[in-house]
Amino acid sequence: MQPMNEIPFEVALGERVEDMLDACTRCGKCVEVCPSVKPAGIADTRPEDIIGGILDLVRTGDGGEASRKWAASCMLSGECIKACDYGVNPRFLLAMARLGIARADNALPERRRQGVERFRDVSRDVTMLSRLQLDAEAGDGRTQPLLRHLAAARR
Ligand code: SF4
Repeated sequence: MQPMNEIPFEVALGERVEDMLDACTRCGKCVEVCPSVKPAGIADTRPEDIIGGILDLVRTGDGGEASRKWAASCMLSGECIKACDYGVNPRFLLAMARLGIARADNALPERRRQGVERFRDVSRDVTMLSRLQLDAEAGDGRTQPLLRHLAAARR
């Protein structure tokens, strides 16, 4: 059984990430020393912008293309860790950025699926209401109370 004072892993991880996000000054030194920047083809992007995008990716899963490329191209050299004067572990932030990207990429198909389902529901309702309306116009007296009930339910 888990001791009462033990912090769950997700909470501890979240706190560590928050601490690093707060501590990072976006100076860009970690990007400047990283050996994977050039092979990734992002050497023309300002280091400050690249690390800024990494922080955005960690927070929201959304960030600049160069930052995405940097996160994907990490070769674990550890040079970034040595370069940081603020106790941040940029390599860890890159791993968190990759996690943010994966979460955002997984969430998109799910949002699309929900949108399609909502559209289908609305289409079904419209079809049913149209049919009832036609029945009512054709003089089916039993349909009118049902139509009124449906209209009231939608308000
Ligand atoms: S992680 Fe460190 S070296 Fe990199 S931008 Fe932030 S403060 Fe600068």
